[in-house]
Amino acid sequence: PKDANLDWKKGPCRFCGVGCGILVGTENGKAVAVKGDPNCSVNKGLLCVKGYHQIMCIQSKDRLTHALVKKNGRYVQTPLDEALDIVANKMKETIAKHGKDSVAMYTSGQSTIPEGYVASKLMKGAIGTNNLDCNARLCMASAVTGFLTSFGADEPMGCYEDIDYADYFITWGNNMAEMHPVLFSRMLEQKSRRGAKIIDFATRTTRSSTASDRSILFEPQTDLAVANAICYEIIKNGWVNKSFVEKHCNFSKGLTNIGYGLEDKFNFTDKPEKIDFEAYKEFLKDYSPEKVSKYSKVSVKDIKYLASIYGNPNKKVVSYWCMGMNQHTRGTWINNLVYNIHLLTGKISQPGNGPFSLTGQPSACGTAREVGTFTHKLPHGVVMNKKDREMAAKIWKVPVERIPSKPTYHATEMFRAVDRGDIKFIWTQVTNPLVSLPKTGRYRPAMEKKSCFVVVSDVFPTPTSDVADVILPASWHIEKGGLYGNSERRTQHWDKMVEGPGETTPDAWMTIEVAKRMGYGDLFPYSKENHVEEIYNEYKQFHEGAKHGMAPLEVLKKESGVIWPYVNGKSTQWRFNAKYDPACSNGEDFHFYGKPDGKAVIWQRPFEEAPEKPDKEYPFWLNTGRVVEHWHTGSMTRRIPILHQAMPNAYVEFHPDDAKSLGIRNGENIKVTSRRGSCILPASINERGLPTKGQVFVPFFDENMLINDVTLDAFCPISKEPDYKKCAVKVERV
Ligand code: SF4
Repeated sequence: PKDANLDWKKGPCRFCGVGCGILVGTENGKAVAVKGDPNCSVNKGLLCVKGYHQIMCIQSKDRLTHALVKKNGRYVQTPLDEALDIVANKMKETIAKHGKDSVAMYTSGQSTIPEGYVASKLMKGAIGTNNLDCNARLCMASAVTGFLTSFGADEPMGCYEDIDYADYFITWGNNMAEMHPVLFSRMLEQKSRRGAKIIDFATRTTRSSTASDRSILFEPQTDLAVANAICYEIIKNGWVNKSFVEKHCNFSKGLTNIGYGLEDKFNFTDKPEKIDFEAYKEFLKDYSPEKVSKYSKVSVKDIKYLASIYGNPNKKVVSYWCMGMNQHTRGTWINNLVYNIHLLTGKISQPGNGPFSLTGQPSACGTAREVGTFTHKLPHGVVMNKKDREMAAKIWKVPVERIPSKPTYHATEMFRAVDRGDIKFIWTQVTNPLVSLPKTGRYRPAMEKKSCFVVVSDVFPTPTSDVADVILPASWHIEKGGLYGNSERRTQHWDKMVEGPGETTPDAWMTIEVAKRMGYGDLFPYSKENHVEEIYNEYKQFHEGAKHGMAPLEVLKKESGVIWPYVNGKSTQWRFNAKYDPACSNGEDFHFYGKPDGKAVIWQRPFEEAPEKPDKEYPFWLNTGRVVEHWHTGSMTRRIPILHQAMPNAYVEFHPDDAKSLGIRNGENIKVTSRRGSCILPASINERGLPTKGQVFVPFFDENMLINDVTLDAFCPISKEPDYKKCAVKVERV
């Protein structure tokens, strides 16, 4: 269609946490075209292959257009009103019989801000249970706990504009060319324009490695040790920014668990303890490049090279990471360790200098972190904090005693509770846990058990909806209005652009309808037509002030996203730096105001072995991840013909030497087996990526080849984020 004939509306891309702005062209009530929004500073008109083709999935023939209720083992199309009655009655009945902690909701970093907000209000404010968690637990919870422990405030201090100023981009276990392609393109542009350098530090060779100036490989889990070795070198060579460290940092050790209220359960007893610089320096003696090189397999020269980049006072450095660091049994620690490097050198909170954790999902920040759809969270605060509970109770107009002060189940524990029979009702929205959870072989039978009533809201049928008792037909993002929040604290609003088919309905509205049917109508006084706006205006009250003020709706409607804190009509692009951040109030050049004394923490974090390592029986490391063509579990992108054709199925990637020694040919079926399960996939040798010898890699987007039956569900004890990046497997020709 010709551009001029179409009605173009702005919004964010439906897929990744980069948060590109899109323009959707509609004609006769149908979405017919997508282009990058040239006014959006994130992508400046560019999109990746997923972005350009996104609207094609909504035309898929197998859309869930009506509610389906399982009756005598078969799904029966049911009017939505009736299905919502069933959901509300079942939830009420379960609470009456087994107590409020017998029901749970599991939502998503792809839920919109209003969707996350009403889910939190229903569970925490109305019912009075903290049984709400979301799939963002699986992708960036370690970044949250990293920020909180180091700075006392969540989310990156910088913004994407850092790309325009940095001399070096160091990516930590992060294949940005495929996972954050538009940002990577921006980095490549800076590389060709002004000679900025990209250093890829990872466990396997990817498309990002080949486009980088230097690729440095490390043995899985040893990033902890290498980060310490970099700090060792920075101190040894006198590259510490002494005045910055003296004025703005403390040194600490301890604290393996932060305030989740689960200390008793997990038996963590150590408290944070302040140490001095000399004690920290002494601790680092175990991490000389020579010592670390032996087990990290990173050469002494490369460790020193990395340290010299961070240590050079004349070069600006941004570190980027995502799941590679977060999905780690010491995810919080490795986040802390990268902050240590930036704090020691004072390379933080300035244009072109800073640590930047990227998110995977489009609203992992906006919804999961800021609205707080985690068991321990409230909008703005945490359930453990009395003042935060009081604030929520006041805005929600509920008695404060109703909001429980102890968190309950994080994602993995939630599905273990389903397995044990402790959770008897679970409602999943905008997520597909039976493909994405680690060790799905345990959780699939758990969800199938008759002891738990399962409600699944989704746009398409998935392996998760296959086990549901009730399936609710959800609207796709442009069929409803909403707000997302991307990796750089940018809140993005869009209006409904087209009608969805059949009885498809926004998740927020289905939650509200269930809440009303349960008798909580007075807490959900929103109108169907304007609920997005009404909810945002209520939610915004949680984030007033210079530290987290959010832009008013009128501004968000006009702009392609606005970065918070939004103060006096202006975004704060670099937090904690007095030059840019009006919330700084200590009279100094920097103020880490998330901490009571305004100082960031440099943590003493040791190397710790991975919980499962290759051995005689299971001799390979397994690493899992994504590919550029597919979005997470593939439920949307596998329904986009061009993307499906480009990447029709998952595969297991081998180093050519391993393939040769095992006699494996390209395309041959291989069984990948761990102590938990197995999966058969075609071998891929010398195609897209190149794992290091002794490692295999499998993308997780393919529901027909469930690699998460194989993965390990061990998690970081602080963030509770599972480690999908390493476990031990054996491989056999089938
Ligand atoms: Fe969408 Fe991410 Fe691609 Fe941008 S980079 S178009 S946000 S999937």
